[in-house]
Amino acid sequence: MPFRLTEDQRALREDVREFAESEIRPRAIELDRNEEYPGGVLAELGDRGYAGITLPEEYGGRGEGLVELVVLTEELAAAMMTVASALALNLGVATIIKRFGTDAQREEYLPEMATFETVGALGLSEANAGANKLEMETTAERAGDEWVIDGHKQWVTNFQHADVVLTYAKTGPDADAPHNVSAFLVPTEEFEVEEVWETLGARNVKSPRVRLSDVRVPAENLVGEEGEAYVQRGEVHTGVNVPARGVGIARAALEDTVAYTDEREQFDRSIGEFQGVRWNVAEMAQRADAARLLTLRAADRADRGADPTRELAMAKVHATEAAVENANDAMQLHGGKGYTTEHHVERYLRDARLLTIAGGPNELHRNSLADAVYAASE
Ligand SMILES: Cc1cc2nc3c(=O)[nH]c(=O)nc-3n(C[C@H](O)[C@H](O)[C@H](O)COP(=O)(O)OP(=O)(O)OC[C@H]3O[C@@H](n4cnc5c(N)ncnc54)[C@H](O)[C@@H]3O)c2cc1C
Repeated sequence: MPFRLTEDQRALREDVREFAESEIRPRAIELDRNEEYPGGVLAELGDRGYAGITLPEEYGGRGEGLVELVVLTEELAAAMMTVASALALNLGVATIIKRFGTDAQREEYLPEMATFETVGALGLSEANAGANKLEMETTAERAGDEWVIDGHKQWVTNFQHADVVLTYAKTGPDADAPHNVSAFLVPTEEFEVEEVWETLGARNVKSPRVRLSDVRVPAENLVGEEGEAYVQRGEVHTGVNVPARGVGIARAALEDTVAYTDEREQFDRSIGEFQGVRWNVAEMAQRADAARLLTLRAADRADRGADPTRELAMAKVHATEAAVENANDAMQLHGGKGYTTEHHVERYLRDARLLTIAGGPNELHRNSLADAVYAASE
């Protein structure tokens, strides 16, 4: 794997960093406090072609790879994680349409999803289908030219601002699992909102629970092959955005801490001169860099068509835990000020805490990693 980003990738990073620092970061505390969806920022990212970064150019995307998605996501998450979440969830849905949808679906959805004019949300998890999505209870039954969908979805990020939910439902008996799940494009107006949770972090991009009661969608809204949607999800790797969000928070926590400990004085010196503080900052830098390298390595493998299972699991666990640990250390090293909303670090900690749970809890990724490690030794 090359350890240096290409010139184009570095230019992408500079461009996004400049945008994130001038347009997102100065508003992040207010957006979080007011629980305000960052729609304006996302529209601007859409205009710049970033919402469709990995989509083909023929559909309005930039035709880039997952390495570029990681670079983009780190920069956005360093400014405000929820902007990166909203963008990634939309892109994840668009990627499934691109990979498995019909030409008609691609033409209808992708150009506007690439600019964030049409917003996608993911309806996979349910009350009893968390870590194990195959326990989903939502069903879809074929009735002539339509599918009739019944059930609920929860944690549907973006829902309140979305146009369409990629909704997973059982279309076959449990005995056929995992080949018994299909995916459908369901307009958001077909859902009834049941619960909008108050959450510790990610406060300005809500993830509600929503219900479908005898919702009818045309047969052409089926995405991919009937019964294969769960298996097909495993073939796309936009999930690398989750560790990339971790990298962004881990780096931002580090940078804020270096600046603060350099400036803040106690005992007639900058607190950054105390060895205990310096070792802690050194550890934070090490965590952030390792997180970035692991995440880029996983993205690079996926871009090259190699199996990234082991590398993705390692990146997910390390980068998301690095985010939590760096945010926690940043709060400690900011002292009382870190505990206030005057600084970003309390939000980093609240937002980071989501990342070890969402995208599948880290325990599951540790399981996949352990399986891959043992398999490699056989
Ligand atoms: C804010 C937010 C946004 C989200 N956005 C979306 C979205 O847009 N679309 C979507 O479909 N889903 C979304 N999710 C759902 C997310 O993927 C699930 O929360 C996650 O998969 C875990 O499911 P659960 O919360 O039901 O936890 P559970 O399955 O109830 O697990 C609880 C805990 O048990 C432990 N555990 C579970 N299984 C194992 C195991 N095999 N071994 C060891 N320990 C285990 C873990 O510690 C885990 O955290 C979101 C979640 C949140 C909180």
